[in-house]
Amino acid sequence: MNILIKNVILNNEKKDLLIEDNLISKIDDEINISADEVVDYKGEKAVSPGFINCHTHSAMTLLRGYADDLPLNEWLFNKIFPAEAKMDNEDIYWGTKLALVEMIKSGTTFFNEMYLFRGCEGTIRAITEMGVRAVYGICLDDSNFEKVKEFVLPQKTDLIDFAIAPHAIYTASEETLRWAKEFSDKNNLLIHMHLSETLNEVEECIDKFGKRPVEYLNDLGFINEKCVFAHSIWFNNKELEILEDKGCSLVYNPSSNMKLSSGVFRFEDVKNKGINICLGTDGAASNNSLDMFEEMKIGALLQKSNDIDPTHAKAEDIFLSATENGAKALLKKTGKIEEGYLADLIFIDLQKTYFSPNFNFISNLVYAAKSECVSDVMCNGKFIMKDRIIPQEKEILKKAKELSVKFT
Ligand SMILES: [Zn+2]
Repeated sequence: MNILIKNVILNNEKKDLLIEDNLISKIDDEINISADEVVDYKGEKAVSPGFINCHTHSAMTLLRGYADDLPLNEWLFNKIFPAEAKMDNEDIYWGTKLALVEMIKSGTTFFNEMYLFRGCEGTIRAITEMGVRAVYGICLDDSNFEKVKEFVLPQKTDLIDFAIAPHAIYTASEETLRWAKEFSDKNNLLIHMHLSETLNEVEECIDKFGKRPVEYLNDLGFINEKCVFAHSIWFNNKELEILEDKGCSLVYNPSSNMKLSSGVFRFEDVKNKGINICLGTDGAASNNSLDMFEEMKIGALLQKSNDIDPTHAKAEDIFLSATENGAKALLKKTGKIEEGYLADLIFIDLQKTYFSPNFNFISNLVYAAKSECVSDVMCNGKFIMKDRIIPQEKEILKKAKELSVKFT
């Protein structure tokens, strides 16, 4: 199967792209071959790598607006965990599908999921049906090691890789962390967890173990380049040095951090250390959307405002954190438009006001554009949205609304 894309704007120039199977096989001024499908954008659309949402909990779309304006501990332990206890595999299937409709419509083609083992069958079915790429981090608790082991290894597909996700140091025991690390090493799996999200988490860790979270994990031999840490706010300089030395990736979650008043990610310090910074929305109960356009803009503005320095978190840096850096963290050859890369692409309608004028496409994408600018989405060489139409969208919205009744 090959698709020829004609007259699309790439880096301010009109180009043709040839997609063969799931790869970008050729980029040139003009490509003339007979293809299975030809799409001519007539210079009216630009192509960008699809966004990579590096930290989310998809099925929490069912809890959007369920509990707001509360401190993290009260929100998580009194509201979210009890509501999640009512979720079964079928809820998680439809909640994930709802999340994927939203992600596709706002240009996300790859996401780093973390969610309950209870819904793993539903999660995998939803991702497969919607055609988006994912790393699925299965949440570990102290009792599900053996089940996770049996489940994870045979399930890898073209679109889905697996990760091990001990939720956080305040929910996972030392035994769980040690098992996760060993399992990751043995099976070459990523580790996805929340780390140093709140000051309270750091203080509790010091009280309990006599050291800060990064030191605690490092002393367990836990941290390496396979670790993707979400939130990652409350690190001191010594901890940043350890993280740099170990080569892990950090995920900046600006909307969730602002909404839960968790603190502010040290973007410039982390960048200057050379640590890989990715961007993520977190779940829809703490954001409350999964829109990477919003996340990019809010992420840039929060840094400038907090540091009182408009040169911080530049549009280009934020765009990289939403694309290429995510691919680096999740170990996939995507997030860039080059020959030989995975064909995970979004097509941006340049006829929208947000791109008029268009002095700087990345600036417009980060500071001006809205998700409505995404007209078509391709993932793994297949169109999964054309002219903003996703098959099944109506049915998914209806079903999610019906299922959410049980949380009221
Ligand atoms: Zn989270």
